Amino acid sequence: MTAAPQDQWRLLDVQAHDTRLAQIAHRRRTLPELAEIERVDGRLKLVADDLVAARTVASDIERELKKAEADVEQVRQRAARDQARLDSGQGTSKDLTALQHEIASLAERQSVLEDVELEVMERLEAAQVRIAEVEAEQERLTTELAGFTAARDAAFAELDAEAQRESADRVNAAAGVPADLLALYEKIREQVGGAGAAKLHQRRCEGCRLELNNSEIGRFRTAPDTEVLRCEECRRILVRTGDSGL
Ligand SMILES: [Zn+2]
Repeated sequence: MTAAPQDQWRLLDVQAHDTRLAQIAHRRRTLPELAEIERVDGRLKLVADDLVAARTVASDIERELKKAEADVEQVRQRAARDQARLDSGQGTSKDLTALQHEIASLAERQSVLEDVELEVMERLEAAQVRIAEVEAEQERLTTELAGFTAARDAAFAELDAEAQRESADRVNAAAGVPADLLALYEKIREQVGGAGAAKLHQRRCEGCRLELNNSEIGRFRTAPDTEVLRCEECRRILVRTGDSGL
């Protein structure tokens, strides 16, 4: 293939835009905010599980507390009934003595049940503290996530605008390149990935960084400047410039 040297140089412009576009795409994929979002998102999922568990524990204890309260209330009512009967003074003295014993034993029972109730209340309080802690953590992470998401979106917007400008410049640069040369360039880009053309700089292909051997130097030196050269190593289009060292 042949192409005027100026057209080959234009290909280097197109390549420069493609390189910058690839860099922008790479930065978009590897934004530090993306890793942070993933990390915080993962933490939030765990915290959501923790919250469900903490609320389940609290609601179990609430049920336990209702039962303990009912137990205390039952003993208290029975003691109150006994006390009323005792106060009425009706019944034999044997009955009244039995009532007194029962009232005394109910008081002991009530004291034991009230201790149980108190212990359950303390556990409920601890469970509620735990819920509040997990909710606070959830709120903190949600705020953190919103911050990273906003930073990511701002970075995306900036990179996308940069990519848009670069793409427009690339279109302009490519417009000056003959169609067959551009088609070859695109084909090579697909095949080798990344650059489709590279500068020959100080006898070195800037695409694969390998130095030309003597036979290549000899061949390239005598090749007409309109001949489109290819690197024998990476097959990219090699563009000669003033500092190619030939
Ligand atoms: Zn090469």
